[in-house]
Amino acid sequence: MLIDSHSHLEMPEFRKDLEEVIQRAKTSGLEYIFTVGTEKRDWNRALEIAHSHPSVYAILGVHPHNAREIDEETYPTLRKLCADDKVRAYGEIGLDFYRNLSPRDIQLKRFREQIVLAKEFRLPIVVHDREAHQETLEILKSERAEEYGGIIHCFSGDYEMAKECIEMGFLISIPGSITYKNAGGFQEVVRQIPLEALLVETDAPFLAPVPFRGKRNEPSYVRYTAQKVAEIKKVPFEKVAEVTTENAVRVYRLK
Ligand SMILES: [Zn+2]
Ligand SMILES: [Zn+2]
Repeated sequence: MLIDSHSHLEMPEFRKDLEEVIQRAKTSGLEYIFTVGTEKRDWNRALEIAHSHPSVYAILGVHPHNAREIDEETYPTLRKLCADDKVRAYGEIGLDFYRNLSPRDIQLKRFREQIVLAKEFRLPIVVHDREAHQETLEILKSERAEEYGGIIHCFSGDYEMAKECIEMGFLISIPGSITYKNAGGFQEVVRQIPLEALLVETDAPFLAPVPFRGKRNEPSYVRYTAQKVAEIKKVPFEKVAEVTTENAVRVYRLK
């Protein structure tokens, strides 16, 4: 049993064959898939997919890329949508200082605001942090994000950062890039993080693991990531599947 803790099934890449993609995930042993609606135009579609598939749950919020699009209607809309029982976390929110698609000052402001909002919704948060480790940690601490905790998705920090996040009650989610040839440093970080703090994710359609690198990613490929984690930590694949599933069930309150 496996869970893909983070994907984007509402994205256009899945428009043609979504049913097959979800079926393939089932066949390869995935119990649940979490799909993240990152901007206004994707929220309803993410919820629709979750409602029409018992194995799919939704996560809604405004991605740092879209932070500058937030207006007076955004939070009231999210307040309504997030009351849905199929929504199990708020996100992805955070900072992307690599692409800077929204100005940095706006990203910082909206990240803080959305942590407050998620607490009001009583939802754990899903954090996106790209080349903004220090600022991400500072904001998580100063906004007291540990009250509801959550997930650092596509984790790319060092072991020290992972430790600080885990102490705040966050789980560390590992994407397919762990399988890449140049991922030696990242693999060493993952080796040190206890399995009890790890999740696996695809971030599909992005970041396909080897042997699909460069192709469209999909939830069923999460097993290649779990396999690599097992290899790095020298534990059986079944153990990684079991513990990461338990972790996801806990943070997303599935049972
Ligand atoms: Zn992300
Ligand atoms: Zn994502």
